[in-house]
Amino acid sequence: LNRRLAEFGTTIFAEMSALAVRTGAINLGQGFPDTDGPEQVREAAVRALRDGRGNQYPPGPGVPELRTAIAAHQERRYGLAFDPDREVLVTAGATEAIAASLLALVEPGDEVIALEPYYDSYAASIALAGGTRVPVTLRPGGGRFSLDLDELRAAVTPRTRLLLLNTPHNPTGTVLTREELAEIAKLAVERDLLVVTDEVYEHLVFDEGGHVPLVSFPGMRERTVTIGSAGKTFSFTGWKVGWITATPELVTAVRSAKQFLTFVSSGPFQYAVAEALALPDAYFTSFLDDMRAKRDLLASGLTAAGFEVYRPAGTYFITTDVRPLGESDGLAFCRALPERAGVVAIPNAVFYDHRDQGAPFVRFAFCKQTPVLEEAVSRLKSL
Ligand code: PMP
Ligand code: GLN
Repeated sequence: LNRRLAEFGTTIFAEMSALAVRTGAINLGQGFPDTDGPEQVREAAVRALRDGRGNQYPPGPGVPELRTAIAAHQERRYGLAFDPDREVLVTAGATEAIAASLLALVEPGDEVIALEPYYDSYAASIALAGGTRVPVTLRPGGGRFSLDLDELRAAVTPRTRLLLLNTPHNPTGTVLTREELAEIAKLAVERDLLVVTDEVYEHLVFDEGGHVPLVSFPGMRERTVTIGSAGKTFSFTGWKVGWITATPELVTAVRSAKQFLTFVSSGPFQYAVAEALALPDAYFTSFLDDMRAKRDLLASGLTAAGFEVYRPAGTYFITTDVRPLGESDGLAFCRALPERAGVVAIPNAVFYDHRDQGAPFVRFAFCKQTPVLEEAVSRLKSL
């Protein structure tokens, strides 16, 4: 294994899901739903397969039906106009979108600022691109993990090329406020930075007002790559359909990298996701309401079990602090939890450069059926 990748080992998600399978524990670790998405979307995939749509290499930028649907979705939800032919690129999940964006836009030695804790593929993708990762730590306090804008400003140097953002934020559940986004946008414009913003949880914002895309702020349209994914919104994580929206120049750049990573992907599923994006608002509302109820169930259960809970404003994850349970090392806690309580969770420390900052935090996913969450809570109460 080369030096760029050696530090990363096996992802925590693979390790913890394997532990869940080996021990038979309830898996609240890796973030995938235990119920598939809408039947009509699955049927759309079957139809595409049967009708021979997408069974051979689809077009490099993605099938026109899906690109049109992505642009229509951005227009309908946010009033944002993207040209489906020049400003949309379909990728093999958000994961490829992240990797291809960094490979395309970062020169070796460039600094890339990422919010810490960061989704693990960010660190690896920055490393593959030869970039230097500059983490800015989200600080716990007042029931949420917050971005210190002064720390963010201080992290920008003449070598900074790109801000890699994520809102709603995995694993903390933080949703950057309109004011925070405005300040970030101002900074990006002032320092002439590119921004890659991972908004895969855009449909999982629980508070009034919903998701606000960073690209909607002044000066951002020309410097922002926005990433989305069907896996999160439609509960088909195995399909690996993601996308970016950006200017023609940025899309062309990212596509240059993408063409040598996968070339194309997910043929028939692209047609199905095109139909999914056009589902009526009622689908998105009921998905959100369902997840909100699950968040409330798991948050109060974890509180009753003795965890300190950071109630998430978005995503389907809850970050907790295990110190009230007399624990200090979240990684050791998660490795022992299947034996102790029959539950799997994710230690946030692996998403930090400053591991000490993340040590006591543990993440639980609530994209699971209600009885599964209830059983997990009852097990955790016996800790
Ligand atoms: N970004 C974030 C913040 C995620 O949580 C995930 C996945 N769970 C991804 C990207 C990857 O998405 P995909 O499965 O579409 O590759
Ligand atoms: N994004 C999901 C999570 O954060 C899982 C992704 C993965 O397994 N790589 O849990």
